[in-house]
Amino acid sequence: MIRVAQWKYERERMVKEQIIPRGVEDVRVIEAMTAVPRHLFVDTSYQHQAYNDYPLPIGHGQTISQPYMVAAMTELLELKGTEKVLEIGTGSGYQTAILAFLCDRVYSIERISALTTQVRQTLKRLGLKNANLMVGDGSIGWAEYAPYDGIIVTAGAPEIPNALIAQLAEKGRLVIPVGDEFSQILNVVKKHKGRIYRQEHFGCTFVPLVGKEGWDK
Ligand code: SAH
Repeated sequence: MIRVAQWKYERERMVKEQIIPRGVEDVRVIEAMTAVPRHLFVDTSYQHQAYNDYPLPIGHGQTISQPYMVAAMTELLELKGTEKVLEIGTGSGYQTAILAFLCDRVYSIERISALTTQVRQTLKRLGLKNANLMVGDGSIGWAEYAPYDGIIVTAGAPEIPNALIAQLAEKGRLVIPVGDEFSQILNVVKKHKGRIYRQEHFGCTFVPLVGKEGWDK
């Protein structure tokens, strides 16, 4: 990845004040959060707020997630660098870039094509070449490249989509917010010897996952 020195101090402060004190320990995740220039994933009018402790609008009624949420969800994937990861809800592409930094290959799906167009340019500018983007309904996953060692959903689902469980590799981990349209609980689903294990983590608030195995629109 091309290193960007701009806003470096704010980025380091974000990690020191928002990420580490809340318990994120994975050194690779901390390195990624320190390296990836979050300000390039928001509109120029929001750049001065890019390292603050909250989500920001990215247009089309969608948001870039709070930095801590990105770090915490990424840590739950337990990436070592060799994995193939599926992301549902590309949005700003910030989470995509963090994943691209931490695993072998990312497949990311977004339903709003204008967002994907923007993300392609940003990832190219940063020299991140291991992310494949698609416009479509991610609630049914991306069967073509399955199974995935990790799946991360950055929109709130009413239930865990069966398609995503089916596309999870043995020993794979699926991180997904599940709940109603206003608040969700972060769930981690693991597949081990073909069996499914589900754990509930912390509360969160995401925009809705809209699609065949998500909410109707
Ligand atoms: N990780 C992103 C989160 C963006 S918000 C970021 O931090 O920028 C969630 C995104 O999920 C939105 O862009 C929304 O359009 C998208 N989304 C919602 N339902 C979807 C679906 N079924 N398939 C793909 N993308 C979806």
